[in-house]
Amino acid sequence: MSTRPASEAPSTGFASLDLDPKVVAALTALGYEEPTPIQLAAIPPLLAGRDVLAQAATGTGKTAAFALPLLHRLNLDAPPRERTAALVLVPTRELAMQVAEAIHRYGKALGAVAVPIYGGASMESQIRSLKRGVDVIIATPGRALDHIRRKTVHLAAVRTVVLDEADEMLDMGFAEDLEAILSATPKEKQVALFSATLPPRIAAIARTHLRDPHVIRIDAAAVKAGNTAKVRQVAYLVPRAHKMAALGRILDVEQPKAAIVFCRTRTEVDELTETMNGRGFHAEALHGGLSQEQRDRVMKRFRAHTSELLIATDVAARGLDVSHVSHVVNYDVPSAAEAYVHRIGRTGRAGRTGMAITLAEPREHRMLKNFERVTGVAIETLAVPTVADLKARRMELTQATIREVILVGDLDIWRGVVAALADEFELMDIAAAAMKHGAAGSDEVKQEEIPTSASPREKHPARARDDERSLKREDKTARGAAEAVRPAAGPAGKTPAAKRSGPKPGWESAKLYVGAGRKLKIRPGDLVGAITNEMGLDSTMIGAITIWDRHSIVEVPESLADDIIRTLMATSIKGKRVLVRRDRAG
Ligand code: AMP
Repeated sequence: MSTRPASEAPSTGFASLDLDPKVVAALTALGYEEPTPIQLAAIPPLLAGRDVLAQAATGTGKTAAFALPLLHRLNLDAPPRERTAALVLVPTRELAMQVAEAIHRYGKALGAVAVPIYGGASMESQIRSLKRGVDVIIATPGRALDHIRRKTVHLAAVRTVVLDEADEMLDMGFAEDLEAILSATPKEKQVALFSATLPPRIAAIARTHLRDPHVIRIDAAAVKAGNTAKVRQVAYLVPRAHKMAALGRILDVEQPKAAIVFCRTRTEVDELTETMNGRGFHAEALHGGLSQEQRDRVMKRFRAHTSELLIATDVAARGLDVSHVSHVVNYDVPSAAEAYVHRIGRTGRAGRTGMAITLAEPREHRMLKNFERVTGVAIETLAVPTVADLKARRMELTQATIREVILVGDLDIWRGVVAALADEFELMDIAAAAMKHGAAGSDEVKQEEIPTSASPREKHPARARDDERSLKREDKTARGAAEAVRPAAGPAGKTPAAKRSGPKPGWESAKLYVGAGRKLKIRPGDLVGAITNEMGLDSTMIGAITIWDRHSIVEVPESLADDIIRTLMATSIKGKRVLVRRDRAG
């Protein structure tokens, strides 16, 4: 029941934004097809020199929104001490590295030098790179202030200061450092403040440091949720490095009849198409780099069920109407709620039900909350299927297939083979061997376990507190851990002080021992609060909690257990550092 072909021409959105042609060329090479809503809203006022106050979370494309205009205000030919034209302040080391990498990629052709400066790394090597001359410094506040005080950084020529993830910086107690840094920069400058939320404390900073700012609130725009009620929405939290493997596994279990997989960039579309074809799927790429004729051919094969996966960018899939799409997969979290609603609207068509699957990096959790608000439908967070899940699913599918084959009949020649073997073997063994033979080769791709949570390299922002302050805090954590008391034996026979049964987990669980209990007046809500606030998780991701006198046991998803342990060890519960580890009894 196909209707119209993908007919819209690829957008030339970036070219119309008055960006340097060399920058536009870099974006094209990266596979960006069109600006995201925050980029469309923030780039023009920033290019015009205005201050900007923008509400935008990770995943919206906010980095390019402030980075691209910066590249138009550089002092490339100035001597090193007068060269630094922009200072970007970020809450964590990870973000500093990511933003520096992004600016490097966008501005390479201009010769722009971007350097990340963060705590915990060698001062000497940072001083050496600062001496050579830097166009954009991306720094965590503690380390930036350190360099300012030592006079190893020269900010006299700074024209733009960006506060990225400002709410996070305030939450981490950087308010005073920010004030000190801002007053060490020239009075005449452009300030851009980006924040996922705009609480009063952010408004206060904006009042003091921003002049007549252009205010952008992207997610305030109402989105018509349309027909999303018939679509089951699920999400998997997967670190970037494991996304491809996770997608393969999820598709193996889901066995979609026809799925559209959305990516952010052309490059990603091409890479993913190649990988999925290598894993035995029939996948085809659809992006703005293809001619109209090529795109029509791809669509024709998808409509005719010749291919089962259509891997596409938003631009290329715009207006697509294919009635039999069973699954929509967001390989990347879409940059705005509008795009999310639009993408998942490709399934659940013509009265059918559909499934929308989103792969999100742990730090993009906030975007999922936003989509839930907009669509009014909960997004279930699931653990990536394990190898055992996959095997169980394959068994189920095999049983279903055999049942069908028996019902269809026409088995006479095969009965002859069974009869010949039946003299020698049990019927049960013959049938089992036949199935094993039939299944051989169906697991050619080596299956490895995939972590659902952040790996140590890709930490959750809440615990990626990298500055000097958090290093001090780690000392304290170690001391707190040493002081924590572990009861000699389990409290057999006694009754716990409080219990929370928790939702029935749809995930494989692990039990955590938390070295605080009734004596510290801990209630289940304190533990739920500590975990959900620090990790940005939903409370449905926490299972049963039992509070004993000196400790508590908390049930959490196995895949997030190590992350939660690290996060809780780095925070305080009821004002105290406590020992958190896997429960040995459980
Ligand atoms: P951010 O919200 O800045 O963390 O960006 C999220 C991701 O989107 C990054 O991986 C960027 O490379 C990517 N990205 C940013 N802008 C675009 C765009 N216009 N088109 C495609 N991808 C983009």
